[in-house]
Amino acid sequence: MGGRHYSPHSFRRWKAHAVIRVSLSLLVTIYLLVFLAAVFLLWIVGEWNRRRRERRALRYRLRCVICAFEFDDRTDALLPRCPRCGTLNERFKPDQI
Ligand SMILES: [Zn+2]
Repeated sequence: MGGRHYSPHSFRRWKAHAVIRVSLSLLVTIYLLVFLAAVFLLWIVGEWNRRRRERRALRYRLRCVICAFEFDDRTDALLPRCPRCGTLNERFKPDQI
């Protein structure tokens, strides 16, 4: 008597449970994907920042063409003078590095 009335209800409950389980695994998958995307994005941004800092540091790096002496020049002179031999040097182009 009761079983006939109970089984459709039980089926519906099982179905709802299955839907919740599927959406839960989907949520976990989405969460993992978002987490991985965030980590990847942070890594890319960090790498980009590191490269930019490196390039900025190298922008003031000069190597004398005469005595091969490496020195930093942070002035905005067009032709910085070598502190060792006094030769005027051309700056490195940033895209050449
Ligand atoms: Zn020099």
